[in-house]
Amino acid sequence: MKYISTRGKSAPVTSAEAIKKGLAEDGGLYFPDEMPLLTAEDLKELCCADYPTRAAKIMYSFLCDEYTYEELLDECRQAYREESFPGGAAPVTKLGDTLRVLELWHGPTAAFKDMALQIMPRLFVRAVKKTGDARRALILVATSGDTGKAALEGYRDVEGVGISVFYPVNGVSRVQKLQMATQEGKNVEVHSVIGNFDDAQNGVKQIFGDAEIAARLNEQGVFLSSANSINWGRLVPQVVYYVSAYCDLVACGDIALGEEINVCVPTGNFGNILAAYIAKNMGLPIHSFVCASNQNNVLTDFFESGTYDRNRSFFTTTSPSMDILISSNLERLLFLACGSEKTAAYMEELKTTGRYTVSAEIKRQLDHAFTGGCCDEEQTAEEIRHIYDTYGYLCDTHTAVGLYCAERYVNTVDGQRKMVAVSTASPYKFSPAVLKALTGEVPENELDAMALLESKTGVTIPAPLAGIAGRTVRFDPDDAIKAEAMPESVLAFQRF
Ligand SMILES: *Cc1c(COP(=O)(O)O)cnc(C)c1O
Repeated sequence: MKYISTRGKSAPVTSAEAIKKGLAEDGGLYFPDEMPLLTAEDLKELCCADYPTRAAKIMYSFLCDEYTYEELLDECRQAYREESFPGGAAPVTKLGDTLRVLELWHGPTAAFKDMALQIMPRLFVRAVKKTGDARRALILVATSGDTGKAALEGYRDVEGVGISVFYPVNGVSRVQKLQMATQEGKNVEVHSVIGNFDDAQNGVKQIFGDAEIAARLNEQGVFLSSANSINWGRLVPQVVYYVSAYCDLVACGDIALGEEINVCVPTGNFGNILAAYIAKNMGLPIHSFVCASNQNNVLTDFFESGTYDRNRSFFTTTSPSMDILISSNLERLLFLACGSEKTAAYMEELKTTGRYTVSAEIKRQLDHAFTGGCCDEEQTAEEIRHIYDTYGYLCDTHTAVGLYCAERYVNTVDGQRKMVAVSTASPYKFSPAVLKALTGEVPENELDAMALLESKTGVTIPAPLAGIAGRTVRFDPDDAIKAEAMPESVLAFQRF
């Protein structure tokens, strides 16, 4: 198996090279040139296995050109250990007859990014060694919230790697800011940047494009890399939990082996739902996918009309991790549907005009598997209340967007198959919005909202968020730097 670019103009690479490089040279994303298959026999065997074993087996089928099964099992055992995922890595909860919730937020930062970012650094470090590169890697991340913290936790104290995270000083929530300011680990650095997310992101992009910075770092034996969701090393661990959820449903007798399910995913960059689609392509019995969006419903319109159009207003919502107008991983879905030549042409159109329309043939193909759905701010709040009142289940704003679309699909399209709705964050990560939805209260202080939500619902605050106010601040948010000072901070990074 080789990894090829979705735009077809870069040479094929090994899995280790794909993970080390992230993006292909022609601007495309790496994808395996063949799809490993999962037979009913394989699935049956996985039903009896624990999460790390399931993860190692699935990941091995994609990475076997460079990684041994033993290596992967060893890394998965460490990444998904009980101390990091105390509630189990990806437990499934039953809500009534048809709805099932796949909870992906039991990791160290209470959001689903942990599922990939706890294992990806381990794959990355091995990838650097396997490609014969003796240099150290400096990971740069610009973040509007969840990714930065999850990357810091994933890369903390990893040998041969440093990580520097930049966030907009006024662009993240109080809890997110505290999570990053109190980050532990000897190889981490966190900077608040004056300006908004775009200022921080442009700063990082400029550093990546700066040949002089690259040369100066190279003299010190250092190269730059990123941790964003277009890297294959972040996608492949996400395929695992769909297989795992299916196995759990079989193991508890909720479905029969071979029975089809539907899946609904609250979507931003299209990485999570694409991983589910890859699982289907491997042979996992999934019938349909519901792609759930918030008010930023560019994907809903795409699945409805076949036209992707980013020329529209951007809304700031209570589900900020889905406030996205360009869903980068959609490129991989297009590649699967129509190959590299057409994909490259659509991406060129997107770049120059901000829009493209897929052919009728591709549209028909996508219609077979995907339905788009969206949920506005009021519906999100109502859904949080409705799910709590009906099932006594507390969910966050992102999960509510998904559950709203999942319930509508169950009620209007398919009430027969079990519907697995993905839950992407702990409700406590977005306490003010969740509390407001339930009680109408809006406390000034986010930390007060957390405590109030706990006393109202009796649902325990996850350990990683519980003691946050009492932790030592290592990176003072008030020491914000200007975006122009970012290159300097990167060149001065010494915490390897
Ligand atoms: C990142 C994120 C999403 C969106 O996931 P994609 O893979 O970008 O579609 C949804 N919910 C939460 C809480 C997230 O952090």
